[in-house]
Amino acid sequence: MKFGSYVFLPEKAEGFDFHLYRVKPEVGRRMPPQPDMYSNIAFFGDNVAARNHPDWISQSPLGPAWRTNNNFNVRWDVLCATQPEHREEQLDYIEDVARHSPGVWLNSIHFAEHGHCTCPRCNEKWKKSGRWWIVRRSGTPGNDATTAKQAYDLMIQNRRVDLVTGKRTPILRMPPTR
Ligand SMILES: [Zn+2]
Repeated sequence: MKFGSYVFLPEKAEGFDFHLYRVKPEVGRRMPPQPDMYSNIAFFGDNVAARNHPDWISQSPLGPAWRTNNNFNVRWDVLCATQPEHREEQLDYIEDVARHSPGVWLNSIHFAEHGHCTCPRCNEKWKKSGRWWIVRRSGTPGNDATTAKQAYDLMIQNRRVDLVTGKRTPILRMPPTR
């Protein structure tokens, strides 16, 4: 199966079996969904929402997840994954896009790398969850050692690789817990 992904124009290219149109990439620009193309939506990577609501940006001990923060290898502005207004607006948007296209695929649906998010709301939710930091961030259910080990291994394997230099950057930095 050949998979075509379209960023700027919803014009199908020949020879592809599956057509995915990025109606909202991480830059935050929104394009009309197409009735004959699947829709791709970036959720927490959203430059437009970050510009309009700078208080929604994800936080860490090394600073906020702006793409201009040189502490990170972040390609776009990443919002806090527990920001309630953004989540609600995006869920309404996803529902609307789903009504106007065959289906929706989501991108950027996770916490930013490098130990995000440590905003007061995320820290409170994490502490109330009683789960190990990595397990909570991974979205893995449960709190037993096996699950934690699996989540840790998965995150280690997914370390950020700089596409230019090939240099690997560990994504794990534990936030202060107390
Ligand atoms: Zn947060």
